[in-house]
Amino acid sequence: MASIPDPGSSESPVPPFRVDEELHELLTKPLPAPGVSPPALGPSQPLPEPVFPQHPELLADMELPPDRHDSSGDPYKRRWTAPLILRAMRGWLLPYIKSRVLPGDFHPIIAYLFTEWKCNLDCHYCWAFDNRVMGMSEDVAKRSIDWLHSTNCRVLALMGGEPLLRPQFTHKVIYYAAKKGFWVYLPTNARLLRPEVIDRVGDAGVAVVNFAVDAVDEKPGLPKALNPVRLYFDYLIKKQYRYGFVVFFNINICRNNLEDVKQLTEIAHDNGIITDYHINESPMIEEPHFKHIEGNGTFITKEDWPKVDELIDWLCEKNRSGYKMVNSVKRLQDMKDFMRGEVKSWNCRAGQNSLIIRVDGSLAPCFPMYSATYDWGAIENHKFEGRQLNQMKQSCQKHCFSTLNHNLGYCYNDARAVRWVWKQAKRGFQGVTGSFD
Ligand code: SF4
Repeated sequence: MASIPDPGSSESPVPPFRVDEELHELLTKPLPAPGVSPPALGPSQPLPEPVFPQHPELLADMELPPDRHDSSGDPYKRRWTAPLILRAMRGWLLPYIKSRVLPGDFHPIIAYLFTEWKCNLDCHYCWAFDNRVMGMSEDVAKRSIDWLHSTNCRVLALMGGEPLLRPQFTHKVIYYAAKKGFWVYLPTNARLLRPEVIDRVGDAGVAVVNFAVDAVDEKPGLPKALNPVRLYFDYLIKKQYRYGFVVFFNINICRNNLEDVKQLTEIAHDNGIITDYHINESPMIEEPHFKHIEGNGTFITKEDWPKVDELIDWLCEKNRSGYKMVNSVKRLQDMKDFMRGEVKSWNCRAGQNSLIIRVDGSLAPCFPMYSATYDWGAIENHKFEGRQLNQMKQSCQKHCFSTLNHNLGYCYNDARAVRWVWKQAKRGFQGVTGSFD
């Protein structure tokens, strides 16, 4: 079994996994056949056919009042209507409060629904797709949403692979979840984000479109580029105000896109959208289907650290000067430690307040554990257990930079959460991005 070499060392190969060997063995031991997907409950349940358009007036070509959004001094300025504020509160605030007052440990706030495990691109750092695996069925999608609804969870993040490989299916999932009161998040590499798809997901009630992009023009190993989808981007930007959703750029910092990260940051700012940064990570556990573990030109090596540090300082400066980012300045600075393998202990809430649902309906605490064979149960019958999760996190927390779970951990520290709410209340909750400074 491979041991873990120094982080970022250019002499040693990238390790096939990053957790301790004992935990790795537990997480990847062969499954007793068959798997843990949910048993069928009576006849299969299809998702309802979405009504489209629900808001025919928004399909119009002429400029509408919601389209007038920014001001000369503030590219981020926009109009938040009472129903949009209510949607965000129902999605995040009420489930959070319930999770603090209800007994027990399992109170999901956010669930990642992997509707696909296939992708139309091949970003060389990404192990989160396998084109041999069938996408989620309507039955599993509907039962997942119904089950999550019964747990008080009201944030549903679609996930893949590429969720827009089946745009009609995605439309149905968003429509059904939004009708049940979910705040719905759609990540995409945008290659299939045609204007008619934007109108459908906007009309169905999507709350956030996470536009994943790593370069301005395609580069070796980084096909998620802006220029090939620039027309879709421009249409998305225009329509976000009309339908009331938010657009993020989701950017992965790799060894070969440092200049692109700066350019994308400026493009996002010029277009009044928020940015969310990740630092490139190799797989947490072994991913036998991942083709690029060796000779990968996107993985950051020790020699790259000074240039990456300089980029992070530049991003911090932009953040301080008012560029809106999901990542706080502290969180950006923490990337330097993570890159050097020096993560401090933190309060991960995966398996308690967040979870993932795989394409077959089985569960895992988090995205890095997608390929684990450990049995955490399936929708309608979870098997998350505090003791197992805590034991596991003693090892994996040291190697993990999950922004979502860091932010959730922050919210479950009472003193910090109260301080943050107090600070935001004084500003009238203007400019909340998900960053916790
Ligand atoms: S620390 Fe939490 S989010 Fe990260 S791998 Fe472990 S369980 Fe998953």
